[in-house]
Amino acid sequence: NKQVILKQRPVGLPDESTWETVKADIPAAKDGEVVVKQHYISLDPAMRGWMNDSKSYLPPVGIGEVMRAGSVGEVVESKHPDFQVGDYLSGWGGVQQYAATDAKGWFKVDPNLVSLPTYIGTLGMPGMTAYFGILEVGKIKEGETVLISGAAGAVGSIAGQIAKIKGCKVVGIAGGAEKCAYLKDELGFDGAIDYKNEDIQAAIKRECPKGVDVYFDNVGGDILDAALANLRMHGRVPLCGAISQYNSTEGIAGPKNYLSLLVNRGTMQGFIILDYVKDYQKAAMEMGTWMAQGKLKSREDVHEGIENFRETFLRLFSGEKLGKLVLKVMDN
Ligand code: NDP
Repeated sequence: NKQVILKQRPVGLPDESTWETVKADIPAAKDGEVVVKQHYISLDPAMRGWMNDSKSYLPPVGIGEVMRAGSVGEVVESKHPDFQVGDYLSGWGGVQQYAATDAKGWFKVDPNLVSLPTYIGTLGMPGMTAYFGILEVGKIKEGETVLISGAAGAVGSIAGQIAKIKGCKVVGIAGGAEKCAYLKDELGFDGAIDYKNEDIQAAIKRECPKGVDVYFDNVGGDILDAALANLRMHGRVPLCGAISQYNSTEGIAGPKNYLSLLVNRGTMQGFIILDYVKDYQKAAMEMGTWMAQGKLKSREDVHEGIENFRETFLRLFSGEKLGKLVLKVMDN
């Protein structure tokens, strides 16, 4: 059972000193527990925040502990009344090949309906974030202009497609021509902005000439500022994340244009997807239906080998991935 342990808290980007891969025995299930053979680990930007020793919505991962992560796999031993050997579960198994757990907060999944990685992507935490963030926090309405950053990623790509399904004009912001072409040609976005090669202010004006009703913020920083400057009256800004700042070693400046919220009677609202768990089932049903109808496309970028955890994780910050980033750590 290979495990990735947090060895030292990183300053800036995680490096070789941050984690250690160790070998442990395959755990045994105690009463009320299952052992899950983990096929896929979810790599999420939030994991960077969980490594900081500061107050947040979850306690930090402790030094010497298995790195926290979402996962999906197969039950290989059960002393739990609700689960049997051969069931597939998704939950919080951490970066390791086998997890013993009481399965609180885990869900049973069916690998015959969609592939296992989809259960930690579009039908898992990132997809739920997109769904509740754009519908309940963003409160999008038909005909509105919706701008999304991190648009080619796990959350952004789904938030944008849901906004299209609901009849909005959708413009995505992503790094590079390939991702921008993907947004328009594959996902049906109305416009795309390559923030690495375009002036972001001018590009938002070009793509959203009437302004932005809803800006779904995944990145923070200069892009948030540019979006605020283009907000329409009664605009909403779901604050989902700020990946541009997660590895910052300097203080965070801004947003400078926050008074646009005042002028436009706008709202910026943060949310944490863990608060919506009781409604996941309903959302997953609706999203599964959209997928079956071909209205919602799910894309996973799967890499292999628990030894490659760090290099793969860093792709979240370099942008060298498309869709939901997943690490396969055990064969089926
Ligand atoms: P993604 O799949 O979108 O991967 C991260 C992407 O961020 C990269 O592919 C890269 O895309 C982009 N990026 C990285 N660095 C920068 C930067 N400096 N400036 C702009 N873009 C950058 O990740 P997720 O979809 O899983 O997560 C997206 C956001 O949602 C994160 O901020 C995350 O923390 C947040 N989140 C919040 C939750 C909540 O409950 N509030 C729950 C889940 C996620 P590109 O190539 O386009 O630069």
